[in-house]
Amino acid sequence: MPIYCVSENTFYQEAPAELRTFYGVPETAILYAVKDVESIRPFACHKCGARHYMVIHQYRLRYSQNLFGMVTYIIVVRFKCTYCGTTITVIPCFAHCNHVYDAQAISTCLGYLIATGHVLRKIDGVPVCPSWWLQQRWYKDFRYGIGFGNPSSEEMSRYMSHQRRQSVLLHKNYVRMEAYPPTERNPSLHHGLRVAMPLLVK
Ligand SMILES: [Zn+2]
Repeated sequence: MPIYCVSENTFYQEAPAELRTFYGVPETAILYAVKDVESIRPFACHKCGARHYMVIHQYRLRYSQNLFGMVTYIIVVRFKCTYCGTTITVIPCFAHCNHVYDAQAISTCLGYLIATGHVLRKIDGVPVCPSWWLQQRWYKDFRYGIGFGNPSSEEMSRYMSHQRRQSVLLHKNYVRMEAYPPTERNPSLHHGLRVAMPLLVK
């Protein structure tokens, strides 16, 4: 089961032309690649805790789209623990795990819907890209994440401000571990759920 980790923005930079050609990314789009793969290699496995077993498993091209539909490509790195087989996917901090829209786009739309009760249509007269249907879907998923009941907009805003922006919306088979250190008390050691958590590097 993969674990998602979020890296600092500084680890990613615009990729050189060779990589762009290799991955067939159009000239008009930005392509981000990690500057130095060693800078994001986790020093220990988040699942079993084994140190120095993380090997590069795959470079995978994914894309991320902003509020106005501008597409950015990212070469994300997947590491694998050769001890227990867990894979860890490291995404840059502007991306949102499991979503095509970036973290900023999702939090902007959600924040607006929570505050006003309406979906976001335009910013400064410029139409935004996520459809009303998708924004409502995010809102439903977000409310589901809070739990049942009827939270007020203040409660929802407070909840949102406490979440890592890259994982405001999590599928239900993911578990948040925003602040857990990689010790034997880390919940990822006790079940096979997918996990969204910050990157732990040396
Ligand atoms: Zn492991």
